[in-house]
Amino acid sequence: MKQSMLFTKTKFEAPKDEVSKNAQLLIRAGFVHKEMAGVYVYLPLGLRVLKNLTELIRKEMNDLGGQEILLSSLQNRVSWEKTGRWSDQVVDNWFKTKLKNGSEVGLATTHEEPLTELLLDHINSYRDLPVYIYQFQNKFRNEERAKSGILRGREFLMKDLYSFSESEAEHNKFYEKAIDVYHNIFSKVGIGDRTYLTFSDGGSFSDFSHEFQMITDAGEDTIYIDKEKKIAVNEEVLNDDVLSSLDLSRENLVEEKAVEVGNIFTLGNKFSSTLGLSFSAKTGEKNDVFMGCYGIGISRLMGSIVEALSDEKGLVWPMSIAPFSVHILQVGLNESVSQTSTDIYNTLVQEGVDVLLDDRQINAGEKFADSDLIGVPVQMIISEKNISSGEVELKERATGKVVMVDEAQVLDTVLRMIKE
Ligand code: ATP
Ligand code: MG
Repeated sequence: MKQSMLFTKTKFEAPKDEVSKNAQLLIRAGFVHKEMAGVYVYLPLGLRVLKNLTELIRKEMNDLGGQEILLSSLQNRVSWEKTGRWSDQVVDNWFKTKLKNGSEVGLATTHEEPLTELLLDHINSYRDLPVYIYQFQNKFRNEERAKSGILRGREFLMKDLYSFSESEAEHNKFYEKAIDVYHNIFSKVGIGDRTYLTFSDGGSFSDFSHEFQMITDAGEDTIYIDKEKKIAVNEEVLNDDVLSSLDLSRENLVEEKAVEVGNIFTLGNKFSSTLGLSFSAKTGEKNDVFMGCYGIGISRLMGSIVEALSDEKGLVWPMSIAPFSVHILQVGLNESVSQTSTDIYNTLVQEGVDVLLDDRQINAGEKFADSDLIGVPVQMIISEKNISSGEVELKERATGKVVMVDEAQVLDTVLRMIKE
């Protein structure tokens, strides 16, 4: 993409009413627009990141055996009344509205009820199990506080997967695999070293649920980490019984602020028994399907990555989800600089590299500052001085490391940097 064509502009200052670092930087760099508190619009650069995150996670879900669907955002009151969750006393963050005929509908906060009911049409026997179903969808929650930018939205993108198994034993195997896959995902997006499997409230069915908590001062949760065992306990469940059941001792735990980027839950037969999702087992008897759910807040994850990796100059994206891999900064307005930039741009694009070319007629200092703010992992500086010696300058955004590369070696070097 040519930057002269990009309609978004960078801002020197963040809006005064925006207190969170993630929203300040994302707004300044033109990735998101704040529609109102807790509601953000994704602009071209921001949408590219969101799509890359979605694609990376989609691959992992497919490898786990997941099948993708898209459930509705408008939800049927009747399903939720069956499980008791329509009540505002039970779930207090619904957005509800009315049809013209006066009947109430809800805007989706989560999808256990509709998916479980939908499967009544498709699951009869043990041969139909297990099945793992997931989606990417906007959720709506009437959150009380929305001061954390895209970490806590009133409308936000979530990946939610639901597992349907024959037995607890089968469920447990999948659950363990899901934990590994989640760790993988968080490593691939650059926050593996600060994200901990965290034991948390299990609700009515199991002892614990598992949160994936990323350490950051921007987080609203407090967790206690055993750095050697690489697990943590959420403050909400921290007590002597829990510590001894997990074989942890209080003096080895460090307290940290953290944000929940993912959450996995054993649901057991909580929904299947109420909504009638049963199957005939090998033995001939009718059993309830054994369920689990597995969430990742995609937009929250994007904000968490910003909180974790950005620096005083701006955003820093890991290659795996960056809006572009290379940012070509055309410095100087003469013919040869513009020709070389365009040639290299075309070569990279032909090789499938995502390139942003800053071809705007502005001074070099502004280009460097904007590039640091936008945070593309590789900056390529093409100036008169460089090309007179047949070289271009490659600079790693994250480390500031600079290498001078022969024009003929540019493609190979860039492809290597992308792979690493
Ligand atoms: P929290 O405890 O932070 O309120 P939750 O426990 O209600 O979140 P879940 O219902 O388990 O969250 O949702 C799955 C995932 O969706 C969470 O792990 C989180 O990453 C994300 N998420 C939840 N609420 C929000 C929100 N308001 N904005 C953005 N992401 C969210
Ligand atoms: Mg939670």
